[in-house]
Amino acid sequence: MNYTNRHELSDFACAILKEDDYDHPDGFTMSQLNNPIRINLLTKRHNELIETDVINNSYSVRGQALHALAALAGKKFKAAIIEERFMVKVGPYKVFFKPDALIPSSSNTYRLWDIKDCKVGTARREHLKPEWIAQVNCYKWAAEQYHQIKINQQTVMMWLKDWSYTDCHERNLPNYPPIDIIEEDVPIWTDAECKAYIIHEIEDLLSEDDTKDNDLPRCSSAERWATKDGFAVVFDDGKTKGQQVPKGGGYTTYIEAKTFAEEKKKKMTKSTKRELKVIFKPSVSIRCERFCLVNKFCNQYHESKQQEQPF
Ligand code: SF4
Repeated sequence: MNYTNRHELSDFACAILKEDDYDHPDGFTMSQLNNPIRINLLTKRHNELIETDVINNSYSVRGQALHALAALAGKKFKAAIIEERFMVKVGPYKVFFKPDALIPSSSNTYRLWDIKDCKVGTARREHLKPEWIAQVNCYKWAAEQYHQIKINQQTVMMWLKDWSYTDCHERNLPNYPPIDIIEEDVPIWTDAECKAYIIHEIEDLLSEDDTKDNDLPRCSSAERWATKDGFAVVFDDGKTKGQQVPKGGGYTTYIEAKTFAEEKKKKMTKSTKRELKVIFKPSVSIRCERFCLVNKFCNQYHESKQQEQPF
């Protein structure tokens, strides 16, 4: 990985941002299998040329700090198994697993914990992402094989990094979590489902090994973390021209946004009067734009940029 430092951060800040406690085992990992095939193969093929700015690591460094603290805390529980990497053979394939924590819950049974440093939007929208459910179940299955233990509960602990007291208790946004940590149990798959899932993901990946970059399976909108097309109401005068009106976003139709704008204008007095207008907000692929290290090599991304039309 080649780093730039466009914001001229100090050597110390850069050193922190480049810290990476991820071990790179020689085999498949669950994190890798949960990534889209396109990302996996473009990363493998262009690894030497991948470049990112150090500041893009700030989220992952915070996540690693949280995991390091969780590992320290986990060691206080007798017989706990914390962040241990192990390998299990799944069919002919070597797969590496590293669950965050296995904490004894009663005699001979454990509770598996997976810690996610994520955004409030995830908790408000969907709670458990499908890839988290798959990952946690595969960790459970593999940990039971390797450690010869029984896991009777598996839980995701979400730490919501952008949780806001104001949004929760003053603006009372709908579906807003009351605190910045959520613990949610993950439904348990059968052993056969876990094994089949892992083998299917590996064979899907291997089957594209000879596919040219431009023909790789396209990332879905969920994999691109794409927002939906929608409408928003913005101020159309004064210093905040162009800024979104509070609660003026997320409308799926023009009529809904227009109705909101009209209601808002009716409530304005002579002194608070502002001009408002409805704008179209096209879908944005957040992962492609801000997080995908291989967007430079991805024709799907470049094609989507060419198709973007102003409304
Ligand atoms: S840039 Fe977007 S479409 Fe391309 S590999 Fe990355 S996530 Fe997928």
